[in-house]
Amino acid sequence: MDDKKALAQVVHDELLRYYGTPKWTRLDGVSELVSTILSQNTNDGNRDLAYSRLRVRFRTWEEVRDADPEAVVDAIRPAGLANQKGPRIQAALSHITQQRGKLNIDFLAEMPVAEAQAWLMSINGVGPKTTAIVLLFCYDMPAFPVDTHVHRVSGRIGMIGPKVSADEAHGIMNALCPAGAQGPFHLNIIRHGREVCHARKPECERCPLTAWCAHFKLSN
Ligand code: SF4
Repeated sequence: MDDKKALAQVVHDELLRYYGTPKWTRLDGVSELVSTILSQNTNDGNRDLAYSRLRVRFRTWEEVRDADPEAVVDAIRPAGLANQKGPRIQAALSHITQQRGKLNIDFLAEMPVAEAQAWLMSINGVGPKTTAIVLLFCYDMPAFPVDTHVHRVSGRIGMIGPKVSADEAHGIMNALCPAGAQGPFHLNIIRHGREVCHARKPECERCPLTAWCAHFKLSN
């Protein structure tokens, strides 16, 4: 574990040197939850288009919650899987209202992390990645979201083992991550996966991590 922690620290430092410190837009918890549900199985551009269409068509999350399901599905169509995501979003908004009496999840900030995780995961269709994104980016809690890029890149480098699933990797990466660096580390690994360590053909020749990467050492 200490070796892997040291590896994670070096990877984080090198990515910061290569890409700089990433910035992100902070949303309130409910908005981030909806945006993250929209992002499932699509790219950022389609997610953003669907999200802005939803915000233009409905003035509040209460209006989205109470809307004709077809109108929500129509608004979010650019995100794909609209027939699944629309009902999922409305059910999540209804669940929050039933549990809390209003559409606000800021109470999570006062909870221990494990309790906040369990509360979000009790919403149908909300898994570990969505949970970690909301807790990290809205409430500065120590959680590490693992998407397809983070799973692939961290596996190739050797921070997680070859048989570790993306769901299992959340806790492992969170434990390895330098303290307080979850946001920038997560975002820089995603960027590295998109720009250099591609799924089909990683561009190792221009990667700053070759000296520490298990995949590179095995294939060279
Ligand atoms: S050396 Fe190659 S496989 Fe390893 S992280 Fe860099 S691009 Fe990916």
